[in-house]
Amino acid sequence: MATPRYQRPKDTHDLYPGAASWEDDSARARFLEDQFSQMCVAFGYGEIRTPTFESTDLFTRSVGEGTDIVSKEMYVFEDKSGRSLALKPESTAPVLRAYLQNGLASQGGVTKLYYIAQHFRYERGQKGRYRQHEQLGVEALGTTDPALDAEVIQLALSFFHRVGIQNLTLKLNSVGSQASRATYVMALKAYIEPFLAEFSDEGKARFEKNPLRLLDTKNERELEILRGAPLLTDYISCAESDHFGVLRGYLDGARVAYTVDPHLVRGFDYYTHTAFEIQSGDLGAQNALGGGGRYDGLVEALGGPPTPGIGFGIGLERVLIALNRLGAEMPEGPSPMAFVVTQGEAARRIGVDLLAQLRAAGIAADMEYGAHSVKAQMRAANAARSRYALIIGDEEVEGKVVQFKNLADGWQLAVPLSETVAWFNSDTQPQP
Ligand code: AMP
Repeated sequence: MATPRYQRPKDTHDLYPGAASWEDDSARARFLEDQFSQMCVAFGYGEIRTPTFESTDLFTRSVGEGTDIVSKEMYVFEDKSGRSLALKPESTAPVLRAYLQNGLASQGGVTKLYYIAQHFRYERGQKGRYRQHEQLGVEALGTTDPALDAEVIQLALSFFHRVGIQNLTLKLNSVGSQASRATYVMALKAYIEPFLAEFSDEGKARFEKNPLRLLDTKNERELEILRGAPLLTDYISCAESDHFGVLRGYLDGARVAYTVDPHLVRGFDYYTHTAFEIQSGDLGAQNALGGGGRYDGLVEALGGPPTPGIGFGIGLERVLIALNRLGAEMPEGPSPMAFVVTQGEAARRIGVDLLAQLRAAGIAADMEYGAHSVKAQMRAANAARSRYALIIGDEEVEGKVVQFKNLADGWQLAVPLSETVAWFNSDTQPQP
């Protein structure tokens, strides 16, 4: 039987250097991750990493049994001891679990964490929607201060601006507390009941299992009916409304533009107070670049002391797609300082040794492998965007020198072999 040609799992993608499609380009992904982590550190956030899988129950309890993520999209498996585990479909619950398990609250003050993590959801794939996707996210725990909500939103926006995405819409809503939402859900159901026969099967199922999700519908008729529905913002308490008002004041003060969308509920049950989503005008159907919100009861629901918190997640692949559509400039990846080029056996031996010495001295250096002509090696040096080619032929072996060729402007200079590494490290590199 012929060996099968293996395919990656459906609706996943590989990342590799030089991929034509930006969401597959590992160098661009790494650049965004670096930008994100630098930005988080500058805002006072520390990195957290949690396992790729967790107890299934962690997500059922937090994200909510009635959500699409838990009821339809989770990758659940049993390990060899019969424990039910799930590949993480999101990171808020795992981060909170880790916060509790490691006693991070005892470090005092507000705990501010960021993560770069892979998430797994059994979704129907399309451009910008995969079964494994990467999120850049933060979680900040320990205060209800709306200034923290403003910080988290501004951190997300600052990241987009820093990487060159300007055409953004910030949608904002207050989804109240679990209690005020329960009252709202009753009002929403009472309003919808007379129209229920006109709803799709999915709409009917949502009506039974999780009526708030009805607000997410894309169905035209359902949207039309929902236009007359009561608004969540009219059901939130004075304190919740005050919190929202103060947050809006901070955003106004910082001249952050936003639109209040009373239908914004997002796909998780744990949100309270602030919910937000950042959309791009450059993405088409999958236009949500990121979103987040407060989850003031969640730590308690996971068995911890009452601890308010807020966070967001940004979809890395969508950021790459948006940047590609914008034709954004991305810095070129790292390139070597020196590229060793040799002709003949003796020169090759010296070149291999020189390469090792350069690398040991921390100088980015490379060479072309295989028996290639000098011309082909020079082509490789240029393709790698090396600053210098260090050329060694018979004459150089004889004279114990290396020909430095500056590949940008072409000047050439012979440097004694024994001084080559020092030449790179000296502050005053001799010019020809
Ligand atoms: P969520 O965790 O659902 O709030 O999603 C946060 C962000 O992650 C979204 O705004 C998207 O940018 C991204 N995202 C969510 N699901 C997927 C997916 N299946 N494929 C690619 N990106 C996704």
